[in-house]
Amino acid sequence: MLLAEQIKAGDRRALAKAITLVESTRADHRQQAAALLETLMPDTGKSIRLGISGVPGVGKSTFIEAFGNHLIKQGHSVAVLAVDPTSAVTGGSILGDKTRMETLAFAEKAFVRPSPAGKTLGGVTRRTRESLLLCEAAGFDVILIETVGVGQSETAVADMTDMFLLLLLPAGGDELQGIKRGIMELADLILVNKADGDQANAANQTLSDYRAALHFMKSRFANWQPTVLACSSTQDTGIDEVWQQVIAFRAALDASGELQQNRAQQARSWMWSETAEALVSDLKCDPKVKALVPELEQAVLDGKLPATVAAQRMIDTFKS
Ligand code: GDP
Repeated sequence: MLLAEQIKAGDRRALAKAITLVESTRADHRQQAAALLETLMPDTGKSIRLGISGVPGVGKSTFIEAFGNHLIKQGHSVAVLAVDPTSAVTGGSILGDKTRMETLAFAEKAFVRPSPAGKTLGGVTRRTRESLLLCEAAGFDVILIETVGVGQSETAVADMTDMFLLLLLPAGGDELQGIKRGIMELADLILVNKADGDQANAANQTLSDYRAALHFMKSRFANWQPTVLACSSTQDTGIDEVWQQVIAFRAALDASGELQQNRAQQARSWMWSETAEALVSDLKCDPKVKALVPELEQAVLDGKLPATVAAQRMIDTFKS
């Protein structure tokens, strides 16, 4: 397959074209995308996959730009993808703004792709996972996947990456920043960004608060104890320390086998969620089911029919 060869040769236009293919919902495109991914599978898996999250304004894109440029200087090649479940609602996307990550977007060893649009988080997630594999096949050795702190998107990104970075703002006082415990527990590395100027002291305070808080959290991996660092994405301080942590993380989990184990489990659960989504979408397209849905939904809305009974009727109709 020509496209596959071009991607493996590092042709960016071919990569962009392939990502457009995996983002398409057209049935023939889906088929082509599936064949392409299967061909490229042996060339995937060689990158380190990093998830990055934090509230809007924390400095995610500024950090990614500083971090990405730092890595490129060291000879790495960096792909940046995004999962933005809000893009479906607002029509925009977190990486859609062309002014973001300008220097990185134009760097030869970088590839920046905005979040795919989609009606469901599942759909957006699938396309990003597939794009990640394509970027690996194209030879990018560090993949960054950005997401905003809304809904289930952090969990979705943690489920497709090796290491999860959570960015925090410096905050005065000792209150934790309303970060849900569940999100804290996903973090393999917490970064207090904007540790510069007036905010340097507050950043240090936040750093100690979170270091203390981490003692009460259980970590995701037996061989990795999450840590907290401070950095400034605008002053370029603490950026190399972040990369050193990534290297340490990878070395520890490679040695223990947890990195591979985690990826294998991610792939297996991806298989099942794909199966579930595809089955539901087939079911919804079935003419007999379609005819039944308004009546069943109404009965459930009116409290006349238990949801489980309605679901079973739909499934029986689909199977019959
Ligand atoms: P995002 O919404 O999380 O992607 O945040 P942005 O990267 O767009 O940054 C939001 C604002 O914070 C911008 O005005 C940045 O210039 C600023 N910012 C980002 N990182 C730093 C930093 O390390 N120090 C300071 N002082 N400002 C920063």
